[in-house]
Amino acid sequence: MPTEELKQAAELYLMGTYTRQPISIVRGRGTKVYDLEGREYLDFVGGIAVNILGHGHSDLVLAIQRQAALLIHTSNLYYTEPQVKLAQMLVDHSFADKVFFCNSGAEANEAAIKLARRYSYDKYGAGRFEIVTMKNSFHGRTMATLTATGQEKVQKSYDPLLPGFSYVAFNHLAELEQAVNEKTAAIMVEPIQGEGGVYVADHDYLKAVRELCTQKDVLLIFDEVQTGMGRTGTLFAYEQLGVEPDIMTLAKGLGGGVPIGACLAKAEIAKAFEPGSHASTFGGNPLACAAALAVLRLLLEGPLLNQARRMGEYLVKGLFQCKDRYRTVRDVRGIGLMQGIELEMDANTVVSDCLRRGILINATGEHVLRIVPPLIVSQSEIDRLIEVLSQIFNRHVAEGTAH
Ligand code: PLP
Repeated sequence: MPTEELKQAAELYLMGTYTRQPISIVRGRGTKVYDLEGREYLDFVGGIAVNILGHGHSDLVLAIQRQAALLIHTSNLYYTEPQVKLAQMLVDHSFADKVFFCNSGAEANEAAIKLARRYSYDKYGAGRFEIVTMKNSFHGRTMATLTATGQEKVQKSYDPLLPGFSYVAFNHLAELEQAVNEKTAAIMVEPIQGEGGVYVADHDYLKAVRELCTQKDVLLIFDEVQTGMGRTGTLFAYEQLGVEPDIMTLAKGLGGGVPIGACLAKAEIAKAFEPGSHASTFGGNPLACAAALAVLRLLLEGPLLNQARRMGEYLVKGLFQCKDRYRTVRDVRGIGLMQGIELEMDANTVVSDCLRRGILINATGEHVLRIVPPLIVSQSEIDRLIEVLSQIFNRHVAEGTAH
């Protein structure tokens, strides 16, 4: 279907929840995608931090094909090997002892919230159910996770929100200490706020949060939906931050593009979930788990993590050069291949300019460009991004729309 016709049909048949770029993507290979007219784009969005192996990775494709031919879905009424193997692999490489599988980041956080409340209920009885989250955070779009999300624009007109959530400023210990009381069950935090504009949690802050949680027997939940799976150069971001959570959530990169989410926890906490207390029809189905197993094996057994770390450093260098050169670049923030560039000018103008020059990039908020490419991105591809950004900034300086 021609792109213009597709756009019209989308308007007719799809609910209007998204603002989309005016292209129809039909295939992808490595770090590149191609539109209907055959134009090539270098993909620095990576399905919003999802396609960590790029597009069409042969190991992932083969794992999906094999599993699809064998068994796509049965149910959690029976055992399936891919699910158990994936859980074991995640446990072997994290702080956690147990895993619950679901289908998205929001569902993973929903599970984490329920698990924390149930653990607290079992141990302390009713009334100790509050979850403290961060202002500017993002945890999903279900009712519980949008309530957990500390952004008014996400919550607006969905009242009544879920009771039992409070919000504190990110990286502000005193405010958090004040918010934690006898009703608090858990603190939920992203190691790097992604949707909120790419803000990194301070190491000292997270250490103090950990101590506070341990001292008060309040659970620490890390939402690693965006930061997990090698994005920051280690399998999970917490490994670099010197702090272990009690519960961690994953999604996005876990299936390399196949929908899957996971909630991981220590055994003592996980035992609050027993048969009937939580479930998902599709959660951990063999197809999604086979895909995630292929992704995890590649991350753990190959050079990918090291390469992602090196490319992250290279990207940061390039972005700081841009910051030195252009006044419109106010700040560069992030870890590894999760970087935000805060601009004085409108970020969405840059997104459109990049698209015209064959680069996919994403804006989070009005003034922040977010760069979350596949972990297989190369040095020359990063050079190309910096070159294109420089061209765009130069043009806007010349036209007086940037400095
Ligand atoms: N948590 C974080 C940190 C996220 O970045 C996102 C999505 O952007 C979510 C949760 C929600 O994930 P999903 O869109 O898969 O429900």
